[in-house]
Amino acid sequence: IARNSGRMERLVADLLRLARLDAGQEGLNLTVCSIESLFASVVSALTPLIDAKEQRIEIAVHISAETITADSNKLHDALSNLVENAVHYTPSGTVIHLAASCHKESLELSVADRGPGVPDTDLTRIFERFYRVDGSRARARDQGGTGLGLAIVKHLVGLHRGSVRAANREGGGTVITIELPVSGKRSEVPTS
Ligand code: ATP
Ligand code: MG
Repeated sequence: IARNSGRMERLVADLLRLARLDAGQEGLNLTVCSIESLFASVVSALTPLIDAKEQRIEIAVHISAETITADSNKLHDALSNLVENAVHYTPSGTVIHLAASCHKESLELSVADRGPGVPDTDLTRIFERFYRVDGSRARARDQGGTGLGLAIVKHLVGLHRGSVRAANREGGGTVITIELPVSGKRSEVPTS
């Protein structure tokens, strides 16, 4: 009963959040965020889950990607969803990589795992509401998944005018990459 009511509570919370996002009721509270702190707080909040699966987290923040002007709570929620998926859908004892790198006009945050990966035909579909890959359905149901996590991530990233994509890694596993524009950050730098 407790497990099922917990699932129901999460489903309702996720549906309400999507409804709020759809209605444009969540604005952005922009501040300069430290990517290292963001990663650290996501990992700290998920430590019980990570420890239960005996996963190891490795963090790599490139020197050019130390900060971004963004809504830290929303980035936190987006990254938590990705790390939660990485933990849920991969076998025990594997390594999950969190990385940040800066490109010409964007900053990329990625979560990479060594799980089963996602069939190529589903790589774009997993961001749809309630969409779940067949093979992981039964397992995900046990773990209380509702298929809304990545839809919420897509919305939160979209609010930042960014994008999110999924790919399969060479050697096995999934990598989800959030790409955020850094033009806001650049415009603060006085031009001469
Ligand atoms: P929840 O709403 O609790 O997040 P969920 O995890 O099933 O439920 P999503 O996070 O939206 O929903 O993910 C959708 C589907 O994409 C998952 O059910 C799973 O099939 C697949 N998926 C997501 N991340 C991974 C991953 N890292 N490795 C393999 N499959 C994944
Ligand atoms: Mg999920």
